[in-house]
Amino acid sequence: MIAARLHGREDLRIEDVAEPEPGPGEVKIAVAHNGLCGTDLHEYFDGPMACTNEPHPLTGGVLPQIMGHEFAGVVTAVGDNVDAVTVGDRVTVEPLYRCGHCDACLHGMPQLCDFVTTHGICSDGGGLAQYTVVPSWMVRPLPASMSLAQAALVEPMAVSYNGVLRAGVGPGQSALVLGARPIGIGVTLGLRAVGVEQILVAEPAAARRGAIEALGVEHVLDPAAVDVAEEVRRRNGGRGVDAVLDCAGAAATFSVAPAVLRPRGRYVILAFVMIDVQFAPWLLARGEFELTGSLGYGPGVFTEVIDLIANGAFPTAGWVEHVAFDQVPHVMEDLHAGRRMKVLVDVPE
Ligand SMILES: [Zn+2]
Ligand SMILES: [Zn+2]
Repeated sequence: MIAARLHGREDLRIEDVAEPEPGPGEVKIAVAHNGLCGTDLHEYFDGPMACTNEPHPLTGGVLPQIMGHEFAGVVTAVGDNVDAVTVGDRVTVEPLYRCGHCDACLHGMPQLCDFVTTHGICSDGGGLAQYTVVPSWMVRPLPASMSLAQAALVEPMAVSYNGVLRAGVGPGQSALVLGARPIGIGVTLGLRAVGVEQILVAEPAAARRGAIEALGVEHVLDPAAVDVAEEVRRRNGGRGVDAVLDCAGAAATFSVAPAVLRPRGRYVILAFVMIDVQFAPWLLARGEFELTGSLGYGPGVFTEVIDLIANGAFPTAGWVEHVAFDQVPHVMEDLHAGRRMKVLVDVPE
């Protein structure tokens, strides 16, 4: 079968590899679509970090790694002792491997497990292949109304929606989203889904502002044209927003949150901010603001997002595009340069 394997930094090869077969408790999936995201770019351009030549302690995964952790497809075979799905079922995969006995796992936070990894980041196989085999407990059957392309977006939208839940906002409240790359778009749609009344989005790239405006968001700000903090305060009557969700990963955004939050508002960081930022802690104490993060998704979030997507909460027009499998290395460059938004790779049958 055809697969896209990461051998090393900026070395992703489309190769013919052996087709995997399911053992007991495992499910074989013919992948239809696989999304590419910032984590993939991080592994490709800055890594490989998650996967090395040392076998992963949970999965045994080593380089070369078949990439792809956001995927959906059709079950083509099941191993012994699999009852959850049968051949022909349309499914997506909640791809987290966790140890089950560390402190985080024991306290219901498997996404924060000491050994957490993801199918397609460091594991035997991944979604950028014609077939992949996963444990049956990862497989999530799809509602009949959901397309396989929508299903490939569940994983990243679960990352976004987890941030919305971490922000703790709801009906009648307000939130500012920093950055309108795909995770920021997902956060914006998730805020709308939980009933947040006033949603403001700041994004420097015109194409991304256009995409978020086309989704019906009224308050879209260009940080190059306006002072974001001033403009947010002006538009929400000076009260300050209930939450700021940072999906930008830029040093400049750190000064915005303390300037726009209402007292005890929450600043949630979803972005991989891999840079040092200057930050005066007093700015947090002054408003008793809460600074927190959001990583992956907790138990139940993934299936909640399947329902939300099935109910139309995450429209894809204007920000999701499909590319052919052989374009993947080239598309990684495009994504890195900010020339594309959300990309779903169509996997050939
Ligand atoms: Zn991802
Ligand atoms: Zn654990």
